[in-house]
Amino acid sequence: MIWGDTMLTTKDVIDEFDKRIRLVSKEVTFPLDDKTKKTIEDSIEMLRLSQIDEYAKKYDLRPGMGLSLIQLGIAKRIFVIVYEYEEGKFETYTVINPKILSESEEKIYVSEGEGCLSINRPIDGIVPRSARISVEYYDIDGNKIEKRFREELAIVFQHEFDHLNGILFYDRIDPKDPYKYKDIYRGI
Ligand code: ZN
Repeated sequence: MIWGDTMLTTKDVIDEFDKRIRLVSKEVTFPLDDKTKKTIEDSIEMLRLSQIDEYAKKYDLRPGMGLSLIQLGIAKRIFVIVYEYEEGKFETYTVINPKILSESEEKIYVSEGEGCLSINRPIDGIVPRSARISVEYYDIDGNKIEKRFREELAIVFQHEFDHLNGILFYDRIDPKDPYKYKDIYRGI
């Protein structure tokens, strides 16, 4: 793909101080309009390039695995995930009107701390997430998908799902004791 002026960069992402980040996004109906489809494709491309050092440097992109449309100021229940499952190989998910059907009892957390393209400052603490989730959602063509996610992908899914409800990851950190769950839950 050719990087044109219309492509997204991480500078198009709104930050935590923009009030829109706290909106509860609305369900969408199918078929999606062309503009929304283009935004989805551009978001996927931005995330993919952001995970390739050469392009991340060239276009000054902060690496990211997930992006919700509300992070572009669009309050639709849509997010994308770009997951590097093997060096230089990516699988992508377009997730629309998602529901989390069930979650494991087991909780995990990102040992290094979660990151977010809308949060540009270091935040300490543990964000408890379910190790496994069963979900349903619609893809870009309106096909209903049922899937299970585990470990890292489960965390990204829950992080992006929270964005649709105006929740940021640090809302889930215990303010009095940010590392309370360090030895109780499993760090990955
Ligand atoms: Zn985020």
